[in-house]
Amino acid sequence: MNLRRAVAFLVWWAIPVLAWSQQPSEMKPVTNRLAASIYNGPSMATLGELTDSIGGRLTASPTYVRSTEWAAAKFRSYGIENVKLEPFTIAAGWQRGTCSGAMLSPLSRPLNVASLGWGPSTPAGGVQSTIVIVSDVSPDVLKSREAELRGRIVFLETSKIFAEGYGKALPKLESAWLAFQKAGVLAVIAPDREKNNVLNAHGGLWGTKLLPLPGAEVGMEDAKLIQRELEHGPVTIRLTVENKTSGETTVNNVVAEIRGSERPDEWILIGAHLDSWDFGTGAQDNGTGAVSVLEIGRALMALGKAPRRSIRLALWGGEEQGLLGSYAYTQTHKSQLDKCVAVLNTDNGAGHPKGWKVEGREDLKKAMQPWSDGLLKDLNGGDLSTDTTYDTDHGPFLLQGIPALDLSVDMTKYMEIHHKSSDTFDKVDGLDFKAGEAIVAVTAYALAQSETPIAPHIDHAAVGEILKKAKLEELLEHVGVWKP
Ligand SMILES: [Zn+2]
Repeated sequence: MNLRRAVAFLVWWAIPVLAWSQQPSEMKPVTNRLAASIYNGPSMATLGELTDSIGGRLTASPTYVRSTEWAAAKFRSYGIENVKLEPFTIAAGWQRGTCSGAMLSPLSRPLNVASLGWGPSTPAGGVQSTIVIVSDVSPDVLKSREAELRGRIVFLETSKIFAEGYGKALPKLESAWLAFQKAGVLAVIAPDREKNNVLNAHGGLWGTKLLPLPGAEVGMEDAKLIQRELEHGPVTIRLTVENKTSGETTVNNVVAEIRGSERPDEWILIGAHLDSWDFGTGAQDNGTGAVSVLEIGRALMALGKAPRRSIRLALWGGEEQGLLGSYAYTQTHKSQLDKCVAVLNTDNGAGHPKGWKVEGREDLKKAMQPWSDGLLKDLNGGDLSTDTTYDTDHGPFLLQGIPALDLSVDMTKYMEIHHKSSDTFDKVDGLDFKAGEAIVAVTAYALAQSETPIAPHIDHAAVGEILKKAKLEELLEHVGVWKP
């Protein structure tokens, strides 16, 4: 080889290696364009379409179906070609109808009530009876109270029942519902825990099996009134619930992919749930997360050249009933998961961003640090926290040992709107929302470009250690997504 050819060979060989070992600062020209594209882009208008034109998107409801079609069309309008609706099944479909309640004695007054999600209807005209308080759902306790429960309406003292932790209480509560049904209980009510009788949409149990009996939540002040009246004598209420239910139902996730330009079989996933509860219009739980996925797709396409690794974009259904869509994805795509470099999830509202939760992984925190310092700090996203939760769609990927990151934002105002009728477009601060989107977009790009995967997959035992530390093992084993 002569000198000229040797130099040419070295340059030819060195270019890709140098390019693959790009430092955070060297990526800045591109990540700045990406962030600018988000800040100047139509995220708020897109959110308006989702929340004000489609509305609340309860899993498997007609509006959820519309939102999946709208999202698929939106991806395609941004030039993204590999767009698919991917089905999974849920045990039952459920849609809220009407619910009313009243105390008949000792006072005559309306009660602020709403049906529990996946609760059946009462007989036409409702059920009427005296209330019995249940604060211990141990099987032997309920067995001893069987005669007392017959024909009554149960007031579940949930603060006492869940005091031992959700993972321990859930199995008992599940069997309690069956015990109530067996004993001939007419309906179950449970107090909400927020002042001003504010109601938070939620189900009675985990998953999408229909409750065995009609169930309703009662506003906190109404519930406290019932409890005070019970100290002096019997309390009679009437509860009327009318919901629509169906059997096993198909729900679609919406998935799209921007194929990588150099390592297309390796992928980063950006995900958020598209479904919502139905009191509000699901603006921050999780319209902003879902719109992030769409708009980051647009901004990546606008770069004109795909990142080296593929970027998958996913909008999940069934999150509110137990992360069902994202879990289904980890099962149907099991054979490809070894090529998943990282999962980036958004679902904590659109408050001022902080950075990333790395879900118990110190090694991932360490690996992320240069990217956080070099690229994300300037975008208000430099924090890294090892807090671990199984409360949103990073969870099923965490179980597979995949580096799973959940966007961390200021949640001070989030709980004021979470699952409530006030989760609407007007509460979204556009600047904070876009700041969060920019952090996700830039992180995804950096992880798709970096020379080596951000962190290795960890094995089953190591995942188990993380779950144990976070006290999640018992719950996840019970709901059937984890075997130690
Ligand atoms: Zn959510």
